[in-house]
Amino acid sequence: MILDRRTFIKTSSLALGYSLLPFTNIYSNTGQKQIGVCLVGLGNYSATVLAPALQITKHCKLTGIVTGSPWKIPKWQKRYNLPDKNMYSYDTMHEIANNPDIDVIYIVVPTGLHAKYAIRAANAGKHVWCEKPMAKTEAECQSIIDACKKNKVKLTIGYRMQHEPNTRTIIGWANSKPYGKIKTVRAEIGYNVTNPAKTWRLDSELGGGAMYDLGVYALNAARYTTGEEPISVSAKQMTTRPEIFTETDETTYFTLAFPSGAIAHGKTSLGKSMHELYVDCENGWYTLAPFSMYAGVQGKASDGTLLTIPVRSQQAIQMDDDALAIINDTPVMVPGEEGIKDIRIVEAIYKASKNGKTISLG
Ligand code: NAD
Repeated sequence: MILDRRTFIKTSSLALGYSLLPFTNIYSNTGQKQIGVCLVGLGNYSATVLAPALQITKHCKLTGIVTGSPWKIPKWQKRYNLPDKNMYSYDTMHEIANNPDIDVIYIVVPTGLHAKYAIRAANAGKHVWCEKPMAKTEAECQSIIDACKKNKVKLTIGYRMQHEPNTRTIIGWANSKPYGKIKTVRAEIGYNVTNPAKTWRLDSELGGGAMYDLGVYALNAARYTTGEEPISVSAKQMTTRPEIFTETDETTYFTLAFPSGAIAHGKTSLGKSMHELYVDCENGWYTLAPFSMYAGVQGKASDGTLLTIPVRSQQAIQMDDDALAIINDTPVMVPGEEGIKDIRIVEAIYKASKNGKTISLG
């Protein structure tokens, strides 16, 4: 039997047990190989951040959309020159399986829906990029990982900070420890949302609340700053506006203990603006402030070292890193296994806050 190239690659990669799906035949103006990305959910993050970033990425480009709001389609088609055949609804998105223009399906819907659509994307045989937080529960995260493994597609979580160059410097310091042993980490992220409309971010079922929405940045930072996994967690949640935050947390405090003895104090709120990561070590300190905003991440250290690499678009860097992992068939920088670790701790934070006890993370 003679196999064509596409069938041969697919068959042999399945036999070898790794992902090497043939990818789209798209090239940039400069002759650069690019993969096709389909955004699922055309809300604020897709419309104002990801789609514009996909216009400046080198290794990937926007080729399709999935939306439940058909009235958005003409505007998106016109702005991004998207053909009719690459327009999908949530009900038809499984048909992307037959669309060679699309290599990656990027899930950008409310957190409580990530698992549903990420699994649908994996079952369509496409690589999956899933926004943070990965899902609502550890079980949901595992089901996404399992679906991607079963379909032999790559899975990456949209933790843009792990691609940001100043942040990457301090991720490296977790290992090299230029200021000595880490004693404490303080990670604080919040926005003063003065008039929150009724959105999914206030809906517990859909994965709302400060800890899921913003707290994962502080939690992830505590883990990448120390390079360790916490062994226990205690937490406290409160709201000053119970009439608005009827189902979800407005503010969450959490404390993590790490095997080395380092302690991380995290704080997140939808009622207060704060954006600082501070690391106190035996022989000095360093900080990133802001550490999690889309732009302007910068820092300094006790010896005068400055962390000020400018970045045009964190999301473009993130998507190019993730596209290259597909093109070169190399490991992704932020796999599903990273996302599930945070969600396991997030679940423990809600439990610890409820019962007032320190929870061992074993
Ligand atoms: P949004 O509310 O602006 O958009 C959500 C989209 O999902 C909308 O298009 C909406 O129509 C669609 N949707 C589908 N089913 C829905 C349902 N049942 N209820 C509500 N909406 C539904 O939200 P967003 O700010 O774009 O956030 C989307 C995802 O992106 C979330 O997971 C969020 O955590 C993530 N996000 C990540 C970053 C980042 O910096 N990495 C920033 C913002 C948002």
